[in-house]
Amino acid sequence: MAPRIAARKGKMPRTSVVKHKLTNSGQPFISSGACIATSRTTGKACCRDVGAVDVPYCRQHMATGDPSFRVVKHPKAGKVLVAARQLPKGYKLALWGMRKPKKSVSKKAQEWAFDILNGWMLDPTSCRGSLAQFCACPGPSEVAAIAAMPLKCSGKGKFGSWMFRTCNRLPRNWQLTMAYGDTSRQMDHFFKEPGTKTTSGARHPACRRRHKALSGRAPEGCSLSR
Ligand SMILES: [Zn+2]
Repeated sequence: MAPRIAARKGKMPRTSVVKHKLTNSGQPFISSGACIATSRTTGKACCRDVGAVDVPYCRQHMATGDPSFRVVKHPKAGKVLVAARQLPKGYKLALWGMRKPKKSVSKKAQEWAFDILNGWMLDPTSCRGSLAQFCACPGPSEVAAIAAMPLKCSGKGKFGSWMFRTCNRLPRNWQLTMAYGDTSRQMDHFFKEPGTKTTSGARHPACRRRHKALSGRAPEGCSLSR
């Protein structure tokens, strides 16, 4: 008997399993249109279709965030983002939010929004699953655990995102610190409070500064103002 042809040409069923090529960090490529969130327990990539243009997460993970991260309360820095499992070097996360013209963002919201190119801002504050907004800034003796990647926004959708990746392997419970300023001097402004020299705590360590490298520097032409 001749074998039955299950899928008609050009009409693949939506439930078909699409194998995605993964990067060294175990995530699909950003350009693949597949969700880059990974399982907290197994590290397996989600790979469902992304939920919106310019956001690399599926609908579910846009709502809940990547399970490989966890938001925890920090005694001094409010909420901070930590690794929920050991993350490999180069693990990607998106700072995503509503794409708004800068002039339409209120002064107060501008404190929490991020400048992107050409007078536009990313406002993650109404997107609870946008976990990168909870990244703390490294203290003067610390280095950023994640570094910004070149900004690539098609500018077509309601949302925009800015990709970051871990600079090194990050142990479980360690903080995903992000450099908000262009220089360490600017970063030091975040530590005006006397005695606040670090965001690091015993339970949620932050990467210590070993040498001059400022890995979290914003790409040319962009500034992370916050
Ligand atoms: Zn997903």
